Amino acid sequence: MSKWLEHIVAGIQAMLHPRRDECLLCKQLGRLQSNELRLCQVCMSRIPWIQDVRCLICGRSEKCSDCLRRKHSYFIKNRSAVRYDDTMKELLARYKYRGDERLCTVMGYMLYYAYRILSSESGTDLSLNAEAGSTNKIITYVPVSERRLQERGFNQAEQMARELGRRTDLPVVPLLLRTKHTDKQSFKTRSERLDDMERVFEIHLEGMKEVLCTRASTLVIYLIDDVYTTGSTMNHCARVLKEDLGAEVFGLTWAR
Ligand SMILES: [Zn+2]
Ligand SMILES: [Zn+2]
Repeated sequence: MSKWLEHIVAGIQAMLHPRRDECLLCKQLGRLQSNELRLCQVCMSRIPWIQDVRCLICGRSEKCSDCLRRKHSYFIKNRSAVRYDDTMKELLARYKYRGDERLCTVMGYMLYYAYRILSSESGTDLSLNAEAGSTNKIITYVPVSERRLQERGFNQAEQMARELGRRTDLPVVPLLLRTKHTDKQSFKTRSERLDDMERVFEIHLEGMKEVLCTRASTLVIYLIDDVYTTGSTMNHCARVLKEDLGAEVFGLTWAR
C-alpha cells in the first residue's frame, strides 16, 4: 500500500473506531477525566455551566430583557445547561454542521444537567393541580423542517431528547411538526423573525394519539431544543402544546 493510501485508511479507521482514550473535543489521547463522556480535564474545565440562575423564566445567568419584552409565556420556565460562549458555539457547530454525532452523548449529558437544575427547584416542577392527581411526564423536542432534516440527516434536538430520555427513563414522543421552512434567521430583523415564526409549528397527530390514550389528569411536557436565543421558538412550540394538549410545558435547552 502506498503511504498516501495507508494514511487514508488510517483516517477512515480512526473515524469508524475512535480510540477509547481520545478526548472527543481536543483529540488528546490518554487524558480522559470522564470515561463516560470521553472529555479530558482541560475540555471539561472549559464547559461554562450555568450555576446561578438570574432570570427565573428562561434560566439565564444574567439579567434578561427578552423575558420582560415577551407579552405571554406559554411555557412555565426554561432551564439551560451552559452559557452559549465561543467554545460552546464551536462544539455545537461540530455536532450540527459537521455531523460529529458522537458528540450527542456529551450534549445529552449536559442537557441532563439542565434537567437536574429544573428538578431541584422545589415547588415549581408541578402546579398544584398536577400534585393533586396523576401526572404523565413526557419529553418532546423542537422539530426541524423536512428540508433541513434531509440536508443534515438528523435533528440535533431529537437526538438530545432521546439521550435525556435514556437517562431519565421518560418516554420521548414527537409531538410537533414544523410546517414551513424558515430561512436562516441571522439575516433577518427581529420583527421579520417573529412574523416567520407564526404558525410554523403544529401538532403531530400520531404523537398526540399516543399521549392522549394515557389517562393522567395532568400532562407535563419537557420541550427540548439546542439553543435558547430569544425564547420565541420555545414560546411558539409551547403554545401549540398548551392549546392543543392542555399540557404544562417546561423548556430544557442545552445552551442559553
Ligand atoms: Zn480535550
Ligand atoms: Zn429570561
